Amino acid sequence: MPSSIFDVIVAGGGLVGASLAVALGRGGLTVALVEPQPPAPVTSLGDAWDSRIYAISPGSAAFLESCGAWQQLPAERLTRVETMQVFGDEPGARLEFSAYDCGLRELAFIVENGRLHAALWRSLRESENVTLFSPGRCGALARGLDAATLTLDDGSVLASQLIVGADGAESWVRGEAGIKASAVPYGQLGVVANFAVGTPHRETAYQWFRRDGVLALLPLPGERVSMVWSTAESHGRELLSLAPEALAARVEAASQGVLGALQVVTPAAAFPLQLQRVAQLVAPRLALVGDAAHNVHPLAGQGVNLGFRDARELARVLAGRGAQSDCGDYHLLRRYERARREDILAMQLATDGLQKLFASGKVWLQRARNLGLKFTNLPTPLKQWLVRHAVA
Ligand SMILES: Cc1cc2nc3c(=O)[nH]c(=O)nc-3n(C[C@H](O)[C@H](O)[C@H](O)COP(=O)(O)OP(=O)(O)OC[C@H]3O[C@@H](n4cnc5c(N)ncnc54)[C@H](O)[C@@H]3O)c2cc1C
Repeated sequence: MPSSIFDVIVAGGGLVGASLAVALGRGGLTVALVEPQPPAPVTSLGDAWDSRIYAISPGSAAFLESCGAWQQLPAERLTRVETMQVFGDEPGARLEFSAYDCGLRELAFIVENGRLHAALWRSLRESENVTLFSPGRCGALARGLDAATLTLDDGSVLASQLIVGADGAESWVRGEAGIKASAVPYGQLGVVANFAVGTPHRETAYQWFRRDGVLALLPLPGERVSMVWSTAESHGRELLSLAPEALAARVEAASQGVLGALQVVTPAAAFPLQLQRVAQLVAPRLALVGDAAHNVHPLAGQGVNLGFRDARELARVLAGRGAQSDCGDYHLLRRYERARREDILAMQLATDGLQKLFASGKVWLQRARNLGLKFTNLPTPLKQWLVRHAVA
């Protein structure tokens, strides 16, 4: 017999699972959120700059505001990206986006992972409809005609109409449901670190498509930037082994000195990169969101934004179910899957295609990709399409 009954169980309280649980709770559904590792509260974060940062699209920021989390972020820890400059690996191959030219206030916001996570968890704790099982570990999952049940390691049994896997790239829920996933490692690491800069960044995000990977320097408040250098594992490990002064000198040279002298303010860390596709986003009484549903290369800074769009759409479909009282109804879940397919596929194709295009040493491809950047820099429909996707 279940010890507790909910409308929805969300397994995984990372950024995506937490945002979904808050959104569903605000929509009047009762939600159980199971998470083995609750994040540190904001009071314990101190002043140090998180090395894990995200470029959050204006669309995601609006969703997070509707969850009550965005407004908790202190203005002095947020940066609006007003311009983006992308460089190819030939002189003159350059692409520039400006919020002003696109009729927008900003292209993205740069936010620290720890603060955003803590803000979402504060919204979770304040939600009357959400019950937290954290630290809590999933033990067994069963899906029947009328309900799904999740047994936790401590023996408690939770029942619901729907279970959502928001438990990251290695999703346990996805595995238990027998949903196939194909992961292709890029053989690259995403090396992250923060730097103080000698020349003001003027709210510009810089990105270099180089033969040794993709280097991005994203503006942080004050004269600081956050780096994501997606590069071959051997090169990534070498960057990690460098003394702070040597790392700063290496990044300064790779970024052609556009931000003057660099100084490390947060030491380097690294994450392995992969492309992961899943066969289905839904199954009877089950749905996947976030990295459990897709894993993309971080060169477009879109991974968590895709996840927030999953959460936003699933919450919208469940809120609009009308006379259908069953949140786990398969036809309803298929509506969510159909609505998300195109966005996910487009992002997988775009990030994977760009990664392969710029990783190739073939001369004709080198010409083509740099010409492509120059062409895209013209005021073409392609440029508008790219901006529309990036800010959604
Ligand atoms: C170097 C790098 C830079 C990136 N930069 C950006 C960026 O600028 N912008 C962007 O949009 N994206 C970016 N991404 C992608 C982004 O980090 C991910 O897409 C995002 O963190 C996924 O969030 P999630 O909540 O789906 O998964 P996760 O963050 O992996 O959270 C999953 C949660 O589930 C929990 N969990 C695990 N197993 C279980 C279980 N069995 N039961 C219950 N809970 C469980 C975990 O403890 C965790 O809290 C970047 C990625 C990398 C590697």
